[in-house]
Amino acid sequence: SLLPVRRALLSVSDKAGLIGLAQALVAQGAEILSTGGSARVLREARLLVTEVSDHTGFPEILDGRVKTLVPQIHGGILGRRDMPEHVAQMETHGIAPIDLIAVNLYPFEATVASGASDDDCIENIDIGGPALIRAAAKNHPHVVVLTDPDQYGRLLAALSEGGTTLETRRELAGAAYARTASYDAAISAWFAEKRGDVLPERFTLAGQRREVLRYGENPHQKAAFYTDGSKRPGVATARQIQGKTLSYNNLNDTDAAFEAVAEFELPAVVIVKHANPCGVATAATFVSAWDNALRCDPVSAFGGIVALNGTLDAATAAKIATIFTEVIVAPDATDAAKEILARKKNLRLLLTDALPDPEEGGVIVRSVAGGFLAQTRDNGRIDTTHLKVVTRRAPTVEEMKDLLFAFRVAKHVKSNAIVYAKDGATVGIGAGQMSRVDSARIAASKSAEAAAALGHSDPLTKGSVVASDAFFPFADGLETIVSAGATAVIQPGGSIRDDEVIAAADAAGIAMVFTGMRHFRH
Ligand code: 5GP
Repeated sequence: SLLPVRRALLSVSDKAGLIGLAQALVAQGAEILSTGGSARVLREARLLVTEVSDHTGFPEILDGRVKTLVPQIHGGILGRRDMPEHVAQMETHGIAPIDLIAVNLYPFEATVASGASDDDCIENIDIGGPALIRAAAKNHPHVVVLTDPDQYGRLLAALSEGGTTLETRRELAGAAYARTASYDAAISAWFAEKRGDVLPERFTLAGQRREVLRYGENPHQKAAFYTDGSKRPGVATARQIQGKTLSYNNLNDTDAAFEAVAEFELPAVVIVKHANPCGVATAATFVSAWDNALRCDPVSAFGGIVALNGTLDAATAAKIATIFTEVIVAPDATDAAKEILARKKNLRLLLTDALPDPEEGGVIVRSVAGGFLAQTRDNGRIDTTHLKVVTRRAPTVEEMKDLLFAFRVAKHVKSNAIVYAKDGATVGIGAGQMSRVDSARIAASKSAEAAAALGHSDPLTKGSVVASDAFFPFADGLETIVSAGATAVIQPGGSIRDDEVIAAADAAGIAMVFTGMRHFRH
């Protein structure tokens, strides 16, 4: 059965859509109750409104801290219309039923984000609003609860058909509790941050669903995409310019590619497959960076995700368009580049306006059976000042540049990660193996295949440098690298067999530096 609205309480901080909502409610015969600021807006639109304080006979007090926290309001929302005792009590105490509330809360999150003072933030903790929302949502069999201007259109449509269905009210009630939960999560996170406690005792994940995805990693899994309100540049805030809708795997891979490409200062291109880079290069131009990134593993690059750390130009777009690519993500693209890609109907182009800051803090989570793990982001970055040369030979200037490049790439490759690089480009990537020596071998043999396909007699790893995301537990990994032709190595160091590994490096005449920092990524 459809529920009409006889009396509505409108109390909103975000006044968007308020007048239209009130007009529709008045048109279907509802009385409007409203708090100070909201009432003023409605009156200015020549709508007949009763102030809550007139309705209750009690003024708004304490700078608005107590406006609606009175029995006439909460009784009017919470009373069960299907229970004679409730109806009788409401009559005895002169409590009029309220059938709809539209409340959106003091903008606590936005106030914090604006860098306001602690006092301002605290004053923007809404007390009466969440109480109204939670009360109305509890009594959803009889009351409609609106917490976001985006929901008004749906209500107007329902009103034009005679009222809301129970199903609609139930759904709005669920959304209402999600809103109060995320609001309190934001407040709690603010207190934790004030204490300098990024991983507080109670941790609430709050997100706004941006999209229901067709499926998850596999077709039998359901999936959705949430934004966390942080507005961090990246997949969750990107604009899709063209192409099919993105899948769960596309989004995951795009994120990996974009976080990786943001590490570099020069024009850089990262090609990702299955969340691992299969080609990374920096160069003077994006076209060269693309050519060099593609050369690393052109077979895997098929159907890949391409990320750039600057504006995509027409020449690069034209080259990328010649091979099957799922997604291109970049801060921006020229009109000419967009025109070229427009011919590839399925190719998705995502623009983010900005790059994420690789050194930014923050917490990342992953679920485990019965809980989740949280840790701060891996925002560690190595420069020459962190490095310790441990071999007789020190790296040359050219080797040093490539070592730092390779180590930054290794940070974005699943462990065990081994990255061969030369002239600012990867030439072999070994990822996700359970043994480091296997990663070293796989990268070298893939590189040899790539070289053979290009008609080179030497493997691309000849004369390259190598980064390892964690220390070599034995000398065998290093020996594999040496036989692939590498001349210098960067690795964290710290193994109990470091001496053996260093001895093997010296025996081969290669240079090795320790970073003291590990970049596991699983
Ligand atoms: P208005 O602009 O209409 O004066 O105020 C609207 C805001 O007041 C809404 O964000 C609503 O959630 C909030 N609000 C309503 N009742 C109360 C109350 O009793 N205490 C507090 N702190 N906020 C309230």
